Amino acid sequence: MQPVKIDYIRCNGCGLCEKNCPGDLIFMDERTKMPVVRYPEECWLCGACRMDCPKDCIKIVFPLVAL
Ligand code: SF4
Ligand code: SF4
Repeated sequence: MQPVKIDYIRCNGCGLCEKNCPGDLIFMDERTKMPVVRYPEECWLCGACRMDCPKDCIKIVFPLVAL
């Protein structure tokens, strides 16, 4: 399951989420210039990417086992 949902309509490709993910899980796709969560299974739902996004276009979907 992909815990980090990015709204690509709102995203401006600024790359802050890539810079600020403490696990280096987000990469900017060279072709689309948009962020991709490349290792979603390693995300620990810290929310740093969501909090730092200037366009408020990241949602964290908590799996039921984490609630
Ligand atoms: S929630 Fe945290 S660990 Fe997961 S992608 Fe965002 S910044 Fe990285
Ligand atoms: S921080 Fe937000 S606006 Fe910037 S690239 Fe990431 S998702 Fe897009």
